[in-house]
Amino acid sequence: MDMQHASAKPIDRLLDEIARCDACSAQLSHGVRPVLQASATARLLIASQAPGSKVHKSGIPFSDRSGDRLREWTGLSSDKFYDPALVAIVPMGFCYPGRGQAGDAPPRPECAPLWRDRLLSALSAVRLTLLVGSYAQNAVLGLGTVGDRVRRYRDFLPHYFPLPHPSWRSQVWMRQNPWFEIELLPELRRCVTAALPTDGE
Ligand code: SF4
Repeated sequence: MDMQHASAKPIDRLLDEIARCDACSAQLSHGVRPVLQASATARLLIASQAPGSKVHKSGIPFSDRSGDRLREWTGLSSDKFYDPALVAIVPMGFCYPGRGQAGDAPPRPECAPLWRDRLLSALSAVRLTLLVGSYAQNAVLGLGTVGDRVRRYRDFLPHYFPLPHPSWRSQVWMRQNPWFEIELLPELRRCVTAALPTDGE
């Protein structure tokens, strides 16, 4: 181990290891590119699904329309959203899994057992976790439907806030469920603001 590596923080060493991971490269037709964001001081954890094709190209989490919607839902500016000192973005699968039968394929199943627990235990400052989409919700809340969990979001506070995946499909769902915009989003913004440090902190 070189001296620079020896003096790195545990979470930085872990992120280095993840950056070099090729555990399921044979199944990744678009190649290996883990895309995530984390630091030991992050207060908000966005537990998401897997990068899409645009994110795979950019290497920046949620640099797509889904990310625009998620920033709008949470009320987070791009500056705050992309500040790893404040916000960690940890999908269930770190690399783009390619296309499936209907939309993107599920996150690679090898990824979470290899990395997730180690990474989450290094995120000890997290106050609120947004569970974005079914895969992240299943991992924490057990089996159920996204619609039911989102409707019962209060049951999971103050630690977890379940959300639908902010893909284009969520726009249709939102039109059918106006309470999401009227009631849930203001509460989500309040919880996100409360989780983050105040200016004087
Ligand atoms: S998806 Fe996860 S396990 Fe597979 S190569 Fe990428 S980082 Fe490694």
